[in-house]
This record gives sequence, structure tokens and C-alpha cells, in this order.
Amino acid sequence: MAEPLKKEKTKVVDEGIDVGISRLTEEKIESVINTVLETETGARLKIYVETCIHCGLCSEACHYYLSHDKDPHYSPVGKIKQTIWEMIKKRGRVSPEFIRRAAIIAQTECNMCKRCAQYCPFGIDIAYMLSVVRRIIHKLGVTPLYIQDTAHSHSVTMNQMWVKGDEWPDTLQWQEEEAQAEIPDLRIPLEKEGADIMYSVIAPEPKFQAQLIYQAAVIMHVAGVNWTMPASVGWDNSDMAMFTGDNEVMGRLKRAHFETAARLKVKKIVMGECGHAFRSVYDMGNRWLGWSMPPFTIVHAIEFYYDLIKDGRIKIAKKYKTVIEMHPNREHNYCCCAGGGVINTGPPFKMTRILGNRVKAEQLFETKTKGAEVLVAPCHNCHSGLHDIVHHYEIGLDIKFFGDIIYEVMEKPE
Ligand code: SF4
Ligand code: SF4
Repeated sequence: MAEPLKKEKTKVVDEGIDVGISRLTEEKIESVINTVLETETGARLKIYVETCIHCGLCSEACHYYLSHDKDPHYSPVGKIKQTIWEMIKKRGRVSPEFIRRAAIIAQTECNMCKRCAQYCPFGIDIAYMLSVVRRIIHKLGVTPLYIQDTAHSHSVTMNQMWVKGDEWPDTLQWQEEEAQAEIPDLRIPLEKEGADIMYSVIAPEPKFQAQLIYQAAVIMHVAGVNWTMPASVGWDNSDMAMFTGDNEVMGRLKRAHFETAARLKVKKIVMGECGHAFRSVYDMGNRWLGWSMPPFTIVHAIEFYYDLIKDGRIKIAKKYKTVIEMHPNREHNYCCCAGGGVINTGPPFKMTRILGNRVKAEQLFETKTKGAEVLVAPCHNCHSGLHDIVHHYEIGLDIKFFGDIIYEVMEKPE
């Protein structure tokens, strides 16, 4: 494993933040902070602020803190002290330079993974508090450029990658034809009213990784699933607006997704392998729209694949010889450092992610020394973030989705 650049410190230039800051006045800052605090927060924030005893027990939970030699600025409570607490204490009277630092902390030094909340004796949700900071940053117009672009793209075209109206069905048809070379009677059914399942994906799939749609189609076909995909808007289940604090756009996007499923009269929505998209549909967007639970049964690809294998609809022809768990693992595993919209802040903050997750690199390296060759991650952002870490620290692991593996090991028609 290559020696990490522990002390790399350069001032990041980000046009979204820097131009936004140049337009701020102290009056505007004070007004926005107090409006958000007074009209959009309530007992939850107040209880967290008043309950925290500043004990620092959450610190060891955060990969940024561990990866920066336990620098308290990167501890979860340290990030709160540098942002929302100061805003509350000073009743919004903070400087543009303070807002600049708050934007960088909230948008690029927290993945909203909530690991810290599991280790706080009171269950204080630091990620929620930093999401309030993101909301303030959004309303001040200081969001990092790349993620703001993505949210804007989604708002305008109803998909985050600016996939044009005709490109979407064209891509599905292309993948159907590719898959027909392997299974001649395979179809990717579009706009099939009354299907059991609407399958939705995130926009990077048709844009960059169309083979994932091919693989999903093969799995659906072999399992005999009655499924469909929408031919027009509502197919992209991703949501960077959720991570920029643009709740209004988040609500529009989730409504479009749910309304598409309603229009097609499907029984449930199965979502491709993506973590944040599931969170946006199952937890955040639905609640913003007023539903405590989503108005449709929502199933993540992993649960869907598990059921297909358990019910014998997919049979495994060959198995991987060993599975080596990372340590810590499951809900205690370290975040990929890409989630929470951090990877979507783009190239200016790439090294923030890579240096902020040295602990992940060490964990991966240890798992590799035990014999692992393939790293499995059921999420696009995890994939891209882990790829950067594996590459930067020269760990040498192949990274796959579950869909890649199932497609590879399942029984298929001759
Ligand atoms: S958030 Fe919890 S663990 Fe962290 S300092 Fe506050 S009380 Fe302690
Ligand atoms: S990155 Fe995760 S562990 Fe660290 S402060 Fe954010 S939510 Fe907590």
C-alpha cells in the first residue's frame, strides 16, 4: 500500500462556493440562518443541541477524524462546534468567511453516514444537524459547483445527467439488443401497465454504465419477473438535491418517481444498486412530501436479488470459494467517503475524500492480505469512491456490484 499524503493542505478553489461567498452580506447571512432555524427546525434540533455534553465519544466513529490522526476539527462534534452551534450562539451573526468554512465542512467533510449517531450515548444525529447547515448553505447560494450543477440538471431535465428524452429509450433498446445476442427472446418492457415491478435506476447507468441495465434485464428475464421501465421522466431515482439542502427540488423529483409508478399501475418499485437513491425515496423525499412511509412498496436491488435466490427463481451455477468480511463490518463498517453527496462535489474535493478515508484504505488493505481479490459494493457512489481509494493507495482490488456477480454466477439459458 502506498504511503498516504497525510498532511496535504491546499486551499481548494470552488466556483460555487467562492462566487457565492463574494455575493454575501452579513445581513443576508443573519436573515437566512434565523429564518431556517425558526421556521424549519424545532424540537429535534433543540434537543440535540441541549443534550450534547461535548464528551467526544462520537469522535472515534468518524473516518475523517481517524484518518486525520484524530484531529478534533474532524470529529463529529467538532464539525458541529465549527458550524451550527456557532450560528445558534451568535444568532446568525457570522462572517462570510465563517460561512465558507461551514460550507466546506457540511458538504465535503461529512458523508451523512450516521455512524457517529450509533456511538453517541444519546443517539444524537450529527448528520441531521449538518444537513441543517447544508440547507442554510443552499439558501445562501454557496453550494459547491459540481453538486449544484447536478441538482440543477435534475431539476431541469428530471434526471441528474442531462440524458435527453430520446437518449433514454434509445439506451434501453440498445441494451435490449445487446442482451438479445445472449438470450434472443429477452425484452426490456417499456410502459407496461399493471406490471408487478417498475425498475428504476440512477442516471449514471444509461450515461456511463449501461451494461448494468443489460445485466438487470438478464436477471429479470431468467427469474421470469413481470417488470417494466418507464419510457419518459420518472426513471431516475437519484437525488443530489437531497444532499444540497434543496428540499423543494428533492420533493419534485420524488413526486415524479412515485407518480410514474402510479401511472404505470405497478405493484412495487425495485431500485437499482444505489444507497442514496434508496434513502431519498424511502426516508427523505417521501417525508418532505408528507408521507411517513413511501406511497409504494420500495425494494432495494439487494433485497430483491436475495428473494429471487431464496425462492429459487435464480439458481447459482458456480460460487465464489471464500467470502472474507471486512472488520469492522455491517452497520459498523466505515463509510466509503463518497456518500452524502461528497463525491458529487467533484474534482476540487477529490483529495478531501481520499485523505479523509485513509482508515478505509487500511481496512481494505488488511482484507486483501487475508486473501480478498474482489470488493463488493452495492452502490454507485460507493463504487466510484472506493475506486479512488483503491487506486490512490495502490491496494489492488477489483470492485463489483452484486448485479455483476449474480450475472456472472447465475444459471442462464444455453
Ligand atoms: S454528539 Fe454525543 S457522543 Fe458526540 S460529543 Fe455530543 S454527547 Fe458526546
Ligand atoms: S461522516 Fe459519518 S461519522 Fe463522520 S460526522 Fe458525518 S455522519 Fe458522523
